[in-house]
Formats: sequence, structure tokens, C-alpha cells
Amino acid sequence: MDSPRRILLVEDEPDIAEMLRFFLEQNGYVLLHAENGQEALRLTHEKMPHLILMDGILPDMDGFEVCQHLRAMPATAHIPIIFLTRRSGHDNVLAALELGADDFIAKPFDPEEMLLRIQNTLRRAEKSARIDLQTGLPGAQIARDYVAQARQDSSLAIIEIQIAHNVPYRQRYGKVAMNNVYGRLGQLVVSMLGQSDIARTFAGYVSENHLAVVYPVAGAENFARQVAVSFNKIIGKFYQDTDRERGYVEIGGERSPLMQVICRVYLGRSGAAAGRSRGPR
Ligand code: CA
Repeated sequence: MDSPRRILLVEDEPDIAEMLRFFLEQNGYVLLHAENGQEALRLTHEKMPHLILMDGILPDMDGFEVCQHLRAMPATAHIPIIFLTRRSGHDNVLAALELGADDFIAKPFDPEEMLLRIQNTLRRAEKSARIDLQTGLPGAQIARDYVAQARQDSSLAIIEIQIAHNVPYRQRYGKVAMNNVYGRLGQLVVSMLGQSDIARTFAGYVSENHLAVVYPVAGAENFARQVAVSFNKIIGKFYQDTDRERGYVEIGGERSPLMQVICRVYLGRSGAAAGRSRGPR
């Protein structure tokens, strides 16, 4: 079972937005909606959509400008963008291609065709390891590359986030439940990053149980603490009542503690050896 895909629709015409919301939700997508470019940028950073449907002409800036902003930010550069264009807009199509648009859908559109284009675009992005469809975050290769680059920058810290006691959890609840935990952790981190200085922050899974966050050195320790505290507060929700209440899971007569989020902060270029652990509580 897959987690639902989030689509951000950037469209200022209410009729079109309403129609698309209905149609996409019917087809199992979670629809986010922005009516202008600023809102689109904010929502993208806070919710990390799997894909963006972008109208070309918006009240405050044009869709191409929004695309340019998103491509320039490490945290959002990977997100597939499909433009909604007028049939006559040939020049716009070329401009958008140059900015890295993934596809186009001409208005007035055929909903079935739109659905196919969305599916194909997501499939391509996953196949090329550009996106991790479970979480909507950048693919592992992109994450590793950006983290390696950030390590060379003394103004940036790397926060490594892992879940302890994940193995007994997976044994007891299965892979789908485990992936859901990783996805929720990713979402929490993204929503917290969306409220901070977003120009250089970044989050991505470099491997299954290893979420890496890039954050300005000054606030990194504090951010790591907040992530650990926030997620450890809700971790009980992933367990059945009996396990949560007794505080452990039992597998084959062995007791294992409930999961905990552990964050390690590596400060700046020289700080790699001086990583500090931020456990819960
Ligand atoms: Ca418009």
C-alpha cells in the first residue's frame, strides 16, 4: 500500500481549482491549493508536495518565476512541475522547458490525459531516483550529494536523524507501518523547516533509517532538540494500545523498548568528529 501523493495546484481561477480538486481527490490524491505565487512557495516548503500543477499566469508573479525559485532551493529543486498553459502559448512552453518544467497540459484540459501525465511524471521522477515517493522528499542520491556539499560549508550543520528500536517495531507491525513512521518523521521535519530560514535548509533520507537535515549552524542544536522532542511525543500513536501502555513490544519472549528519535548534530566543516548526540527527554 502506498502513502497518498500530495499534489500542489497553483491556480487563481476558482472554477478550475474546484474542478481539479474534485477530480484529483476522486483519484486518490491529496490536493493542496495555492492561489498565488507566494502562497505556492510557502506551501511547497511546509508540505513538500510530490508534484506541482502550475498555472502560467498568477496574480502576483508568473508561474515560471515560481518554478525558478523552487529550482534554486536545494530542498525543493527535485519536485516535478507540470505547467497548465493556453494552447497558443508556444513561447511560454519554451521558457518553461528552459526552467526545468517536466511537462505541459494545455487548457482546456482532458482530465484523463491529465491523470496519465501526472502518473507518468511521478514514475519518471522515481525511476531516476529524483524523488522518494514514500515521503515526497528528494531521492537518496540527491540527498547524499547535497549533504556532501554542505559538509564543505562551515556555516552549515548536518543533523542526522535516526529511529532507535525500529527493528522490533518492523518485526511486529510490518514494513508498511514502518514506512509510515519514516514518512511521518519526514513530514514533521519538513513542516518545521518550512518555518525557518529556507534558502539553504534541506531534508532527505540518505538511506532507509537515516534522515539527514542541513541547517544553519547557529540554530542547528536547537532545531535537533525540537525534532526529537516533537516526534518522541507522538511516537506512541504508531503502537497498539497494549504495547503503548506497557511501554515495550514483545517478540518471541524478548522485550524491546518503544522507538525513540535520536538526532546527532555535526557542526560545520571541522565539527564532523565532534558530533553531539541529542537523545529524547
Ligand atoms: Ca491564471
